[in-house]
Amino acid sequence: MKKNEKFPLYMRILVGLILGLAWGVINKETTIDSSITIDYIKPLGKYFLEVLKYLAIPLVFFSVAAGVLNLKNVSKLSRIGLRTVVLYIATTIVAIIIGIVVVNIVQPGNSISEETRTELLQNFNQQVSAHQSKVNNYKSSGWLQTFIADFPQNIVSKMLHIVLFSLVLGIVLISIGEEKSRPIADFFQKANNLILKALDYFMLTAPFGVFGLIAALVVETSKPDLFFALLQYSATVLIGLLLMAFLIYPLLLKFFTNMDVPEFFRGIRPAQLLAFSSSSSSATLPVTMKQCERSLKLPEQVTSFVLPLGATINMDGTSLYQAIAAIFIAQTYGIDLSFTAQLSIILLAIISSIGSAGVPGAGMIMLSIILESEHLPLEGIALIMAPDRILDMCRTVVNVTGDATVATMVASKEAT
Ligand code: ASP
Repeated sequence: MKKNEKFPLYMRILVGLILGLAWGVINKETTIDSSITIDYIKPLGKYFLEVLKYLAIPLVFFSVAAGVLNLKNVSKLSRIGLRTVVLYIATTIVAIIIGIVVVNIVQPGNSISEETRTELLQNFNQQVSAHQSKVNNYKSSGWLQTFIADFPQNIVSKMLHIVLFSLVLGIVLISIGEEKSRPIADFFQKANNLILKALDYFMLTAPFGVFGLIAALVVETSKPDLFFALLQYSATVLIGLLLMAFLIYPLLLKFFTNMDVPEFFRGIRPAQLLAFSSSSSSATLPVTMKQCERSLKLPEQVTSFVLPLGATINMDGTSLYQAIAAIFIAQTYGIDLSFTAQLSIILLAIISSIGSAGVPGAGMIMLSIILESEHLPLEGIALIMAPDRILDMCRTVVNVTGDATVATMVASKEAT
């Protein structure tokens, strides 16, 4: 599409983001009725994300099945699968260790006075109860139950089902032989291209969607004073995320791939901006897949499998944040976490980032499970609620960048 070249996707998203921010601030600082934003502008963002999530379903389905069929043999698939899982776990461990090191150096919990702590606990009392009931729902349904239950109701967390289903379908089709499966493989491929085309058209509406998301976010965010009380904590999380995004991933790309690092960042820029605006790596998935295939030129056999899996189980930014948040809460309460307790946070953060869905706020729900296992005060969640929306946006960018980095690493290895 010619039009896109003159006004590329990342620019369109950026325009929506800046205008949304400007409108949100104007609406908040003037007497304009905020219901204009909540009732008429916010739905633009909501429906934009809904459509993206629905586009992700056929996209993942067709591209995984087509990708498996193109691999032509199951042993190649298991090699890619194993490499992907190992890299996902390794990058998650690195992220958590960075989080633990940074939070122990900065010690943000020690900057919180008794007064601020009480104020935060009082102010976020209600939100903590609402949060706790979400955690209880999650726990009472059980992990296995969550995995197998109510398919259409929670499409995003069922992404893993779709990946597994199309993987199995692909394997069955490989087993019937290439000649018989070829027409089906061609159909999957064409359907996949069609959905990517539909995505291209749909992304023309991205400025409006992102405008709605950001405007509503600004209008609905309150208590900036408490946000500033938590500046040191927020800065600690941001330092960790920046180290992952601008040190660890570039190093991995430089040493383990043939990808030019600036080219990588240029290629995934639209996905990063969308991740930032939506706080949802699942909603961003179609754009991440498209950018990795079309801009970074990664083979579809790799992206189709690695990226949906990553959007579901690989959350480097989330795990880094969870480690920092848990230790920050302990510091604030004057609880000295032993070395072994901090080591067990690594394990818990790996598990809970795998369990976190790629939707806004999911990381915070799973954080409660870490706090509980470490016998840390659950109401401590109140201490980190004020800046969480903004930090969620930033950690989602890292989550998406981590998936794209691993996809590039796996693709480079396959190419050698
Ligand atoms: N919002 C994050 C994501 O979608 C998950 C989280 O950390 O809350 O990747």
